[in-house]
Amino acid sequence: MIKKYMTFQKNNGIAPYIWTVLCILPFYFIFQAPTTLEIIVGILLTLLFFILYRIAFISKGWPVYLWTLILIGISITATSLFSYVYFAFFLAYFIGNIKDRVAFLTLYFIHLLSTSASINYSIVMHEKLFLQQLPFVIIIWISVILLPFSIYNRKERGQLEEKLEYANKKISELVKLEERQRIARDLHDTLGQKLSLIGLKTDLARKLITKDPEQARNELKDVQQTARTALSEVRKMVSSMRGIRIKDEMFRVKEILKAAQIKLVCEEEFTLTNVSLLTENILSMCLKEAVNNVVKHSGATSCYVSIEQSWKEIVLTIRDDGKFKGTEECLADGHGLIGMKERLEFINGSLELVTNNGTTLILKVPNDVKPHLDKEERK
Ligand code: ATP
Ligand code: MG
Repeated sequence: MIKKYMTFQKNNGIAPYIWTVLCILPFYFIFQAPTTLEIIVGILLTLLFFILYRIAFISKGWPVYLWTLILIGISITATSLFSYVYFAFFLAYFIGNIKDRVAFLTLYFIHLLSTSASINYSIVMHEKLFLQQLPFVIIIWISVILLPFSIYNRKERGQLEEKLEYANKKISELVKLEERQRIARDLHDTLGQKLSLIGLKTDLARKLITKDPEQARNELKDVQQTARTALSEVRKMVSSMRGIRIKDEMFRVKEILKAAQIKLVCEEEFTLTNVSLLTENILSMCLKEAVNNVVKHSGATSCYVSIEQSWKEIVLTIRDDGKFKGTEECLADGHGLIGMKERLEFINGSLELVTNNGTTLILKVPNDVKPHLDKEERK
């Protein structure tokens, strides 16, 4: 239970305390009222406000307008009767959570106008209690202007991220399906044909073995040759399946950035020459993680990807024009950057992180030689 409470506190920061104070505060203002009747009216209005506030949150369609207008009415009354302006903050928060754009804008402007009018009225009337808390009133007024838009945009962003995650899942499913079809095609075109040829030739050799042993020997030689070719083709297929080529990963990167509406700036061609599959595979995985981070964390509008291959090394750069949000804590929590560094170190590479004007990741790996791969393929 305590653990749950601590997690709640950690996730929400000081927000729960602010809400609690704002819920208790009306009573402080109400009890300053001169007559008992006003106090009773104040308590009833406050209770009504919180009940309707709860109902408004679970309502859909036109009742949202109705409840919000009543809530705005209560807020104006509380401001003019008890100099209690803080209900406007609750309303700003609620309006920010309205999904429908038209409803959001309509209620936003009604609330802004009514709050501004009631604040001005209280200032003009020289309400003593009101003037005493003027700095807080100004803060509330600024919140009424900014808070709904900030919440609304954050929600929209959240929805966009959800859509993006869904699109990514779909893309990876499609990629898997495509890969499966490719494997099936390759198996059919290479192994299938060769095995049926082997079947035909051995059949022929069996028939010829007594009639024409020489011809039968030739046919068996062909069978042996075909079996060898088939074996080497299977090996090639398997080794090409083992890793993701950087060119293929770039295709995915283009899709994901397009879905996130981030402009991609890069060269047209992304092929490396004479690079082992292991190196290319690791670079592809790092590229994938770096771009996922750009989409997830940066808030960037464009992303720059480049790859340069010299005789000495390969340098892959991923840069965005967003804002780096990493703290030491989340760097240790996440697996992305650490995993990238570990993978690169495994092939004697390095990872450099530059965080001014967005985030730049510079990945360097030694330019290894392909004969290593050829040897592997020849096995
Ligand atoms: P995981 O990758 O394990 O799902 P993660 O993305 O949070 O989690 P890392 O990839 O290690 O973890 O990133 C660590 C932190 O660095 C992120 O939480 C984020 O705050 C920050 N970060 C990383 N890349 C960027 C970026 N391109 N723009 C802004 N912040 C970034
Ligand atoms: Mg990450």
